[in-house]
Amino acid sequence: MTAPGEMLLGRRPSLGDIFDPQAISELCHSYTELYGIAIKIFDAENRKLVDTRAALDVCKFIFEYHGTKVRCTNLVTDLKRARPELGQGTQTVNCFTGLRYRVAPLEYEGDVLGKIIFGPYLPVEWTGAPADLLKLDGSIDATAAEVHYEKLRRAKPETIEKIISQIVLVMGVMIHTGYRMQLTAQTHIESMTAAFKEQNRQTLKLQESYEKLMELDRLKSNFLATVSHELRTPLTSVIGYSEMLLDGLAGDLAPEQREYVQTIMEKGETLLKLITSLLDLGRIESGGLKIQRERFPVGPLLEEVERTLLPQAQRKGLGLAHGTAAGLPPLHADRERIKQVLVNLLGNAVKFTPSGGTVEVRAEASTEPRRPGADVDRARDLFEPRDRRVLKIRVIDTGIGIPRAELTKIFDSFYQVDAGSTREYGGAGLGLSIARSFVVAHGGRIDVESTPGRGSTFTVVLPVDSD
Ligand code: ADP
Repeated sequence: MTAPGEMLLGRRPSLGDIFDPQAISELCHSYTELYGIAIKIFDAENRKLVDTRAALDVCKFIFEYHGTKVRCTNLVTDLKRARPELGQGTQTVNCFTGLRYRVAPLEYEGDVLGKIIFGPYLPVEWTGAPADLLKLDGSIDATAAEVHYEKLRRAKPETIEKIISQIVLVMGVMIHTGYRMQLTAQTHIESMTAAFKEQNRQTLKLQESYEKLMELDRLKSNFLATVSHELRTPLTSVIGYSEMLLDGLAGDLAPEQREYVQTIMEKGETLLKLITSLLDLGRIESGGLKIQRERFPVGPLLEEVERTLLPQAQRKGLGLAHGTAAGLPPLHADRERIKQVLVNLLGNAVKFTPSGGTVEVRAEASTEPRRPGADVDRARDLFEPRDRRVLKIRVIDTGIGIPRAELTKIFDSFYQVDAGSTREYGGAGLGLSIARSFVVAHGGRIDVESTPGRGSTFTVVLPVDSD
C-alpha cells in the first residue's frame, strides 16, 4: 500500500532518517543487559546505526590466535555484508566456534530498510570447545579454551526466538511511527514550499502588473501635461479677445452680441480653470510640485478669496461671510497655493449649497500633538515641544452635505459623489484632490465633517512654525 503523500517524498527515507538514534540505542542496550546478547543494526546501505558490543571472553580468546582470528574476521565481514530479503524471516549464521548469530531484515511496507543482528550466543545443546578448533591454529591453549566454554551462558532456541520476535516487533513500531512523523514533516515542508513558490509567482505577477500600471500612469500624466499645455495657449487668446470685444476695442456691441461674448468668456474661463487643475494634477503626480514659502497674514487672504467667490454666491442668493480671530500668527506658506486651496473649498461650498443658505470661512489659531494619535518619541521630546502650533481655516456651508461612506473618497482624483449622467453640479472631481496635495505639501491636512441635508465643514490645518 502506498502511504498518502509518498509521491511528494519521491523516495523512502533511510533508517537513519527515521530513527531517533539515542532512543533506539538505549532500547538495544537494555535488551543486551537483560539477556547478555549483543545487538547490531545496519541500514540498507550497510551503515552501522547501533552496536551494543557485548564481546564474549571466548571471542577475545579466539582473536588472539592467527588461524582463528582470520576465520573470525571473515565471518564478521560476511555478517556485515549479509542482505536479508523481504519476507525471509530470521536467518541463522553459525560461527566455527559453535557460537551462533541470528540476522533479521527490518521491513516496512514492502521494503527492506536494514537488518538487525543478534549474537553471538551459545545454543543450549552445545557442550564444550569444538574439536576442530585446534586444527585452525595448533598453538591454541585447549585447556584455557575449555574453561572459556564452561563459563558461557547458553540460550534455549525458544528463548532466543522470543527475544528476537519481541525486538523485531518493537523495531517495527518504531519504524512505523518514525516514518509517519518523517512523512508528516516532509509533507508539511513540501506544502509550505509549494505555497511559498506560488506566493513568489503571484508576487512576481503583481510586480509586473504594478510596473505596467506605473508606466500607464506615467504616460497618462505626460499626455495630460502636454494636452493641457497646448490647450491653454489658444484658450488664453479666446478669453483675451472676448475681453477686448466686451471693452469695446473693436467697436460697440449690440446687447445680444455682448451677451454672447460674455458667455464665450465665462465658458472659456471655466475651461481654463479645468486645464489649470489638470496641469496641477500632472505636476503633483510627477512629484514636480514646488512650494514657494513667504510670510503673510491670513486675514487679507480670506478677504481676497471671499471677493473671488462673491459674484457666484450672490447669483445663487447665498450669504457669504468670513472671520478671523484676533492676534492670528502669520502663515509661512506658498500664498498662491493656499489661496487656490481656499478658492476650491469655498467654490465647492457655494456650488453645493442651495439658494438661501450660508457659507462662511473662519480662521483660528490652535495647538495639537506633533504627531496626532501617536506618542512623541523620547529623543525628540527633549529638544522639541510636544505640541505644534497650527492655523485652522474652516469653510462651513449649510449645503447638501456628504454621506459618511463618501467622506474619504471625495479626495480621490476625478471622484464625485453624484457622478451620474444627469449630474446637477459642474466640475471634474479634481478640486479636493489638488487642495489636499497642496496642504499635505505644507505639512498640513484637510479634515471634513458633514451631515447630509444640513451642511459640511472642511478644515484646513496648517503648521504655523514651518521653516
Ligand atoms: P468637483 O467639485 O469638481 O466635483 P471636488 O474634488 O472639489 O470636485 O469634489 C469632489 C466631490 O466631493 C464633489 O463632486 C461633491 O460630490 C463632493 N463635495 C465637495 N465639497 C462639497 C460640499 N461642500 N458639499 C457637498 N459635497 C461636496
